[in-house]
Amino acid sequence: MKEFLHNKIFQIISDAADEQNQECYVIGGFVRDIFLKRPSKDIDIVVVGSGIELAKRVSEKLGKKAFLTVFKNFGTAQVKMGDLEVEFVGARKESYQRDSRNPIVEDGTLEDDQNRRDFTINAMAICLNKDRFGELIDPFDGMTDLKNFVIRTPLSPDITFSDDPLRMMRGIRFSAQLGFFLETNTFDAITRNKERIEIISKERIADELNKIMLSRKPSVGFILLEKTGLLEIIFPEVLALKGAETKDGVGHKDNFYHTLAVLDGLCEHTDNLWLRWAALLHDIGKPTTKRFDARLGWTFHNHNYIGEKMIPEIFRKLKLPGNDKMKYVQKMVSLHMRPIVLSEDEITDSAVRRLLFDAGDDIDDLMMLCEADITSKNQDKVKRFKANFQLVRQKLKEIEEKDRVRNFQPPISGQEIMDTFKLPACAIVGEIKTKIKDAILDGIIPNEYEAARLYMLDVAKGLGV
Ligand code: ATP
Repeated sequence: MKEFLHNKIFQIISDAADEQNQECYVIGGFVRDIFLKRPSKDIDIVVVGSGIELAKRVSEKLGKKAFLTVFKNFGTAQVKMGDLEVEFVGARKESYQRDSRNPIVEDGTLEDDQNRRDFTINAMAICLNKDRFGELIDPFDGMTDLKNFVIRTPLSPDITFSDDPLRMMRGIRFSAQLGFFLETNTFDAITRNKERIEIISKERIADELNKIMLSRKPSVGFILLEKTGLLEIIFPEVLALKGAETKDGVGHKDNFYHTLAVLDGLCEHTDNLWLRWAALLHDIGKPTTKRFDARLGWTFHNHNYIGEKMIPEIFRKLKLPGNDKMKYVQKMVSLHMRPIVLSEDEITDSAVRRLLFDAGDDIDDLMMLCEADITSKNQDKVKRFKANFQLVRQKLKEIEEKDRVRNFQPPISGQEIMDTFKLPACAIVGEIKTKIKDAILDGIIPNEYEAARLYMLDVAKGLGV
């Protein structure tokens, strides 16, 4: 294992630990990621004894390059050097009470510390002391699980999950992030213990959801959340998308699996977390708006606007940010039908201008979302849609170059309208302003000051101002 510990920090920790006569190991995610070839800058060190003492000695040895932070209450310390973050903690034994995920903690051995880890692949340790430098301590055979792509708890999964239910989310998140399988007993135990998730804070659940969203194929995580029953508790709005009803021989697609296909498809093109959230939520208004009409079949009228309205409550409940990120997701959800509708009809300049105006700088993101939304078993249909989409993109480019409406500010301000006609701030000012904007977007006048001013005079005359 020595070859994996080539960073000189390990030699320094090794010397410091030997000088202080302390047993010391690198443990957890860093060790797992060595074998998965996922380079990591977060290093966890377990010391049999005081982690703080060892961190102090390591920091002295590193001199000015290193920054030491001691968390006395937790008995831990962190040394930062460049982009490396090394956490030092004393080996501990944990015991849990039923109503809390905060354990009673005592000093322990390496074995105690490995027993409290969540998964076999996260419980491996490598010794750093000189005489055993590079020795792998893998009591639960995490190495075999790594080779077989398996997520499994080291001890009884029922106890592991009941003790700290966040581990259920972590297990599903690792499955999505690493492309691993939940071992059957581990999966079954999540199903049995799902209600325990209620004692976990919403912030922690949101952290895990975000990590699932940022994985290469988030559908893996959402399908596991659904199958274990966790989704029903933590995110019922997404579960409501599931199912395909048939009436008079007419069916509709299962919007849960459709949504996941859109999300996975989008993730091949972008790492933008909030665009990924927009993909997950783009059809969230469908269950509420679903109707059956004998002539039209299944309809979901205005599901984009209902979806847009549902988002603040969903974000509040999940403790996601209620700021511009949420507004961006709302905007994407509300506009997600527009490019498709455009590609089905004859593409008029005015419709393209309006789309550019409404989407502004987010137009490219919107187009990416809409293109991912084209999923159908009928490949000819997909091909036709994608070809039309190319036309929409081309048209967007032409109109933007010609009319620059993407971040368009009306050339005449409300103040100028008030000054020109000696008006106080009132509804007529707004009406004149809107008419000027519409005239530009509809191509009646060019997006220029003088044309807009003349048009303003005309409009005002028409309104009897
Ligand atoms: P990532 O950095 O991607 O979240 P990680 O495995 O490094 O992955 P951390 O949260 O940094 O995760 O935790 C470091 C290690 O601490 C884990 O590998 C695991 O051994 C242990 N650990 C973390 N959280 C828990 C938990 N809730 N229960 C048991 N062990 C845990």
